[in-house]
Amino acid sequence: MPAPRNLHRAAQEIVDQYGGVFPQDFKAAISLPGIGRTTAGGILSAAFNQPVAILDGNVKRVLARLVALQIPPAKAITHLWQLSEALLDPDHPRDYNQALMDLGATVCLPRKPDCEHCPWQPHCRAYQLGIQSELPMTETRVPLPHKVIGVAVIWNNQEQILIDRRKQSGLLGGLWEFPGGKLEPGETIAACIQREIQEELGIEIEVGDRLITVEHTYSHFRVTLNVHHCRHLSGNPQPIECDEVRWVTLAELDQYPFPKANVQIIEALRGDGDAPLAKFYW
Ligand code: SF4
Repeated sequence: MPAPRNLHRAAQEIVDQYGGVFPQDFKAAISLPGIGRTTAGGILSAAFNQPVAILDGNVKRVLARLVALQIPPAKAITHLWQLSEALLDPDHPRDYNQALMDLGATVCLPRKPDCEHCPWQPHCRAYQLGIQSELPMTETRVPLPHKVIGVAVIWNNQEQILIDRRKQSGLLGGLWEFPGGKLEPGETIAACIQREIQEELGIEIEVGDRLITVEHTYSHFRVTLNVHHCRHLSGNPQPIECDEVRWVTLAELDQYPFPKANVQIIEALRGDGDAPLAKFYW
């Protein structure tokens, strides 16, 4: 929004040079005092339905979350403009830009984005990774390294769950856990889980519904665990990258020490009742 002094100067220029009519040409609009690229885009799309992109603060936040931007928006301005232009609906630029601004102002809020009511939720990478409240990154914050992990709750047809014991050496050594591993660049959570389970345990699984997303911060890094129900398809589980594997019932899980971040998974499983079994087997 132009400052009042610029607004006055811009109005004078519009009267002097354009006969009192706001110019519809982007270059002319952006050359007016106090009119930046976003303001020009906002005016040209709202007033004349021109396909000109916008990128105000709200829009930066929405787009940064949409693609899970891992750097502060200020360092990715060119990329964000390209994204805003690529997404713009050329047939309905006025409605699209207005909807994008409204989304940022009423749904994709800075602190508590209301993802459950967001029309972009199915496409939103930050939502998929469970990191929407941490984005966009700020300039000053030095973020802890962040690992996104795909985790499998693997069921067999005896209604047992596969768990593995971590190697004694290393972080959380000797504790039991639900198997999984780190997401590779460009990989989906489901593909990550399938690959990790094949590499770590040598079995084939089918990845089903998401059970829960768990955020946990350790002293030197933080993790997002994307936990999915999975179904064992074939192969005998092998302790390829762990010390031991076991099939256990839901009730037996209490007998095994799990890291803190996994406790929420067990609680979610208990809260989920028989739903996953019903989905897979009946
Ligand atoms: S799903 Fe959530 S984070 Fe993603 S755009 Fe919608 S409100 Fe924003």
